[in-house]
Amino acid sequence: MTFTLHGVGVSRGVAIGRAHIIERAELEIDEYHVPDSDINREIIRLRDAVHQAKQDLRAVRNQIPASTTADIAAFIDTHLLMLEDSAFTFDAERLIRKLSCNAEWALKLQRDALVKAFDEMEDAYLRTRKDDVDHVVSRIQRILLNHAPLKHEMPGNRIKGMVVIADDLTPADTVLMQRNGVIAFVTDYGGPTSHMSILARSLGIPGIVGAHRIRRYVSENEVLVIDGTEGVIVGDPDESAITYYRGRQSERKRHIESLEGLRGAAAITLDGYQVELHANVELPGDFAAAHNVGASGVGLYRTEFLYMNRYDEPDEEEHFRAYRTLIRELDGIPVTIRTLDLGADKDFDGNAGGPPAANPALGLRAIRLSLQEPTLYWPQLRAIVRASALGPVRLMIPMLSTLDEARQVVANIRTVQNDLARHKVAFDPNMPIGAMIEVPAAAICADSFARYLDFFSIGTNDLIQYTIAIDRINDAVNYLYDPLNRAVLRLISGTIDAGDAAGIPVAMCGEMAGDVRYTRLLLALGLRQFSVHPSLLLEVKHVINQTRVGGTADLARQALNAADPEEFKMLLGQLL
Ligand code: PEP
Ligand code: MG
Repeated sequence: MTFTLHGVGVSRGVAIGRAHIIERAELEIDEYHVPDSDINREIIRLRDAVHQAKQDLRAVRNQIPASTTADIAAFIDTHLLMLEDSAFTFDAERLIRKLSCNAEWALKLQRDALVKAFDEMEDAYLRTRKDDVDHVVSRIQRILLNHAPLKHEMPGNRIKGMVVIADDLTPADTVLMQRNGVIAFVTDYGGPTSHMSILARSLGIPGIVGAHRIRRYVSENEVLVIDGTEGVIVGDPDESAITYYRGRQSERKRHIESLEGLRGAAAITLDGYQVELHANVELPGDFAAAHNVGASGVGLYRTEFLYMNRYDEPDEEEHFRAYRTLIRELDGIPVTIRTLDLGADKDFDGNAGGPPAANPALGLRAIRLSLQEPTLYWPQLRAIVRASALGPVRLMIPMLSTLDEARQVVANIRTVQNDLARHKVAFDPNMPIGAMIEVPAAAICADSFARYLDFFSIGTNDLIQYTIAIDRINDAVNYLYDPLNRAVLRLISGTIDAGDAAGIPVAMCGEMAGDVRYTRLLLALGLRQFSVHPSLLLEVKHVINQTRVGGTADLARQALNAADPEEFKMLLGQLL
């Protein structure tokens, strides 16, 4: 029977396909006695499972295309190395003999001992390696117990055309799934601006998060419709539902095709206001997309991807190569490289660890982490400054909250520039240095920040989170996540005004900039630079080109100053 479930649509579009449920529940391992006469057979059983695990992992590794996955491949290599280490199997074999127990149980005991040893290590980085032990052991146990491996890790196309249902997904899962032809995903948890959701938009697959207990209602292989625009999941759809959603799919395809003609067109309102439309990029695949869609710049290059799915850190050369690829691909348009914004929702495997932070979003992330972790930050800084010799590069600081941080970064850049000059290495001495305005403290004091910086870019994903005090990845408070909250709009408006007064450009690169429901309002607030994912750029241009700014600036000011909330709503309604 057809049924409907709701979540938060985070990546637009409609997909129709069969469900694949990812269960990451821990395996249940029982101990049983193995008689002496069967011990050798048990050991062979273990060796066969280890052999099978190696083959499976190599197959996973081979299916990963060379372009994105040096990092993911390195992650898999670590596991292969463990499987190939004879000490690893030797210990488990010894336990089977000593305790006359089954192979699964011996592996469990070995795992527990190793995890304990890792837990006791001083070095926070080494402590994180216990996850590898877990992954490798459960892979072998899964084989011993005849459990199917997680399908999205399987070689070939076994999840091609399927809708993935999971409690949560890591960014690496999202990439791997797209490479394997997954057509949509639904998760129990997550928010619209979590990193996973942003990545899904960038990969162009419909996605829904916060669909609580979805795994209770949907069974493996059941046909589902995923409406990522409305956040609706239709289970076991009847013919009329399928016809309706196929119609929606064709309609969207036609709409997207109709926008193609705008690629070369300027973004200009009906009354002649020129708008810059920049692209947000993250995955290497986005670079060409930004170019193809006719972006007039890259307003945000999220460099976190360089740090993910690996245990080491990218060195200066690796950073430099990535930036050079981007600059060459974009052929002369300005490129805004944001220094690393790791921490909170953008965690990474090489995380220095320490005790888990109670409020990671308020903790050591972004520029705070950079300034405290020289090995993460300096190679990147040097690479960005060197890359500035290759084309128009701008450096952007994430999560700036004090003027002192801005001063430190500027001083660090000068140090790098002096050093490069001494060694006769080229760079652009006038490389603009700007910041994300995404912390209320920075937005409120934007006028003083503007004196030290060359540009601003408003990060609404975090600005909304910090202004309304709602965790952007906590689905329980998704309902409060409101870009139209008046406090947020006041901060946006104040930042644009401060930038205008200081004569520096102000862009917006948060997800709000790519949501066409807000385009007219943002134009009314004076925004003239939008930075959006390439897949959204033409839609935003389409709306800009049909908008008349006219007297909306006055109306916006009136709305923001209205004493009565009802009056605010009424005036706002006229700006949307
Ligand atoms: C933002 O916060 O709006 C933003 C663009 O940065 P990120 O989503 O990467 O935190
Ligand atoms: Mg941010």
